[in-house]
Amino acid sequence: MTYWNRAVETVSRDQLTALQDQRLQNAVRRAWDNCRPYRAKMEAAGLQPGDIQGTGDLYKLPLTLKDDLRDGYPYGMFAVPLGDVLRIHATSGTTGKQTVVGYTKGDIEVWNECMARCLTMAGATKDDIVHVAYGYGLFTGGLGGHYGGEAIGAATIPASAGNTKRQLQIFTDLGSTVLLCTPSYAMHLGDAVRDAGIKDRLKLRIGIFGAEPWTEKMRGEIEERLGLRCYDIFGAAELLGPGVACECSERNGLHVMEDHFLIEILDPETKKPLPDGEPGELVFTCVTKEALPLIRYNTRDICAVDRRSCACGRVFARMGKITGRTDDMLIIRGVNVFPSQIENVLLGVPGAAPYYLLVVDRVSNLDTLEVRVEMAAGFPFDEVRRVEALERQIAKEVLSALGVSAKITVTAPGSIERSESKAKRILDNRP
Ligand code: ADP
Ligand code: ZN
Repeated sequence: MTYWNRAVETVSRDQLTALQDQRLQNAVRRAWDNCRPYRAKMEAAGLQPGDIQGTGDLYKLPLTLKDDLRDGYPYGMFAVPLGDVLRIHATSGTTGKQTVVGYTKGDIEVWNECMARCLTMAGATKDDIVHVAYGYGLFTGGLGGHYGGEAIGAATIPASAGNTKRQLQIFTDLGSTVLLCTPSYAMHLGDAVRDAGIKDRLKLRIGIFGAEPWTEKMRGEIEERLGLRCYDIFGAAELLGPGVACECSERNGLHVMEDHFLIEILDPETKKPLPDGEPGELVFTCVTKEALPLIRYNTRDICAVDRRSCACGRVFARMGKITGRTDDMLIIRGVNVFPSQIENVLLGVPGAAPYYLLVVDRVSNLDTLEVRVEMAAGFPFDEVRRVEALERQIAKEVLSALGVSAKITVTAPGSIERSESKAKRILDNRP
């Protein structure tokens, strides 16, 4: 089975829907026939495969959660014998136990194709030098980026994450033009470039960053340090890996590869569909996956969807930037707090650096939030008054933007742990 078809990005919406309807029917039938947990869930809901005729019936199907995949650990949700599996990866385990995912030859082809589309959307061509600084290994970022680079015919460098000095050497000696990594590692690389004074020796022009939430302000900071144009890319191992959605030149939302992934946005409370433009939980159905079927998988990431046509000519719906995942949302004395909201505040305060950690504690039954943030390089950290003034200013802005009071601790440059993959932004000490 092959799904290679880049022209599908510009078919009419009706043609796309017809393709989705047909693929959804097949996907439901495959899950029913080959994956007992899906069949059990459908039966419990009184559904037969024939009840699902197209995307209009999607809402009838039960949701799938990360815990369903965890329950089946490691291979319980696979729909093909292991003999037909070509590769195995795992999730990062950001919110708990890792889940194991598998790919058939067809799944790998789809993945490579989707990644190739993403690189192309961001403007990369075969003449680029694609530097992959996502970790290679069970994490999908490294190999996902790698085969995407090769699929567009670009010279692809398997740098993997870490060893920052060596990354800079690859930039200058090998002339990387496209960089793939997490935004937090890109930020760290940018600071290292600044410290080494080598920005004018870089050939970087495109950065494709994802795997964790990042704000528009963070985008600006990275672009300034590395002298490139950044694009947001989304993925999750359960779905595929990187390559599920990516920004085009308009950078106005991430086009979802809708010939493979159906997107829904649900109200986090009622789990009912929300109108376009309203942020809610991001749910995907994979209509072509063979090894690991995924029907109405609730990522618990929060964003909105925009199905209006895009100036770039692609029909695929655009998901907005993810503001956080429901799993990451802190509730501090009744106020919902996402790390990205704090990041937004910090990056607007001169003197604060974009390295921070949120520490949550419970003191006599009350939740407390401490924001540890580094001062920017060059800030006079031995001048206690200036440091205290900076702390007061950040506290005031956090209160006015989020409505929550937080203790701010400004720390010395370099004191907060740097991330090579997904940054750890929360330390929750509550019992
Ligand atoms: P884990 O769920 O353990 O982190 P993955 O490594 O598969 O496993 O990561 C998938 C998750 O990473 C997504 O559900 C989402 O929370 C996050 N993510 C991926 N890409 C982005 C992005 N561009 N923006 C924000 N979050 C992202
Ligand atoms: Zn577009």
